Amino acid sequence: MAGYHQLFIPGPTNMPDRIRSAIDRPMENHRAPDFGELTLPLLEDLKKVFKTEHGRVFVFPGTGTGGWEATITNTLSPGDTVLAARHGQFSDQWIQLCQAHGLNVRVCDRSWHEGAPVQQFAEILQADTDHEIKAVLTCHNETATGVTSDIAGVRRALDDAGHPALLFVDGVSSIASLDFRMDEWGVDAAVTGSQKGFMMPTGLAIVAVSPKALEAAKTSKLGSFYFDFQRNGMSHQNGFFPYTPATTLLYGLRESVNMLLEEGMDNVAARHNRLAEGVRKAVDAWGLSLCGNDPALHSDTVSTVMVPEGVDGGAVVRHAYERYDMALGGGLGPLAGKVFRIGHMGYVNEVMLLGALAGVEMALNDCGAAIQPGSGVAAAQNHFRAAGAATAMAA
Ligand code: PLP
Repeated sequence: MAGYHQLFIPGPTNMPDRIRSAIDRPMENHRAPDFGELTLPLLEDLKKVFKTEHGRVFVFPGTGTGGWEATITNTLSPGDTVLAARHGQFSDQWIQLCQAHGLNVRVCDRSWHEGAPVQQFAEILQADTDHEIKAVLTCHNETATGVTSDIAGVRRALDDAGHPALLFVDGVSSIASLDFRMDEWGVDAAVTGSQKGFMMPTGLAIVAVSPKALEAAKTSKLGSFYFDFQRNGMSHQNGFFPYTPATTLLYGLRESVNMLLEEGMDNVAARHNRLAEGVRKAVDAWGLSLCGNDPALHSDTVSTVMVPEGVDGGAVVRHAYERYDMALGGGLGPLAGKVFRIGHMGYVNEVMLLGALAGVEMALNDCGAAIQPGSGVAAAQNHFRAAGAATAMAA
């Protein structure tokens, strides 16, 4: 098929040429005396993406799931209690991972249309006067549902209760795209992967940890050799890794961080908000609704759109792929068939997104949803024009 494949899934995301070129290089010695010239400033600059001065960043070959595992195995002990909410595919999987490691998970089951239950967390933490709960797990941006949770609110719940539990945040589809403030929100471990906001290929787990989490790592008994923070941290001091690192991906990550910092993290978040708002205007114009109940929590990186009665969300995704060479995200778990997802994170701008919205309109109509062609595109155009001059994205 001629033309570019249109990738609008919520990760992996479109890869800029700058990153593609940075990765395209020969293999080299990861124990060369000057390897630290690449890695030491990179590990330091990554802290700016997480907005942490006090934290420490670890980069592992792996994915976001590996980042969860690194966090849990480094900081907790078998039988420890953790508090978590289940309100989507990824919050559910993090709970499963904890259970697989023999942790006792206090699960707050929520509808898949809601965010993390800040008030319920507050009540549970207040009642936990013996401080049985060792960590609170929150998924910042549920990629399945397109609902963003209030991490500052969870922090307040902990502080108001005077509770010492660690705060772990899944930022796989938020960090490097949405406003993320590790230090200000008192996050003890923030987990992400390379293939979403970082605009990279899949293959790196990126985890930032607070001094408190590093302290917990000294007594944790769950244990991991590969992910061990102390073992990795010792090696990182000189810019090395205690295994063979993915050198080419580290060069890609260097370029990614350059691009993010050139644009500025606040501008990156503002761009994602502007783009997402255009998508929301389009969804409104189609007469459809988003999965999230609370408009204040609608995600700026992924929109999960409910399909009308009688239309199969899976068929829309399949048809868009086969007929229009465009990849959309399908519904996960209980949302299968009921939704489709438009990913709008990473290397995306207004005109790219308008193309995606036009493609969605065609696919929806072909699949039996009576959408006025052009209505969503026009609504998004009006929003983008009114939203004023875009801050230039790093080219
Ligand atoms: N958490 C969230 C919010 C995600 O969106 C994903 C993947 O899409 C994961 C965790 C799992 O990450 P990975 O697939 O990189 O292991």
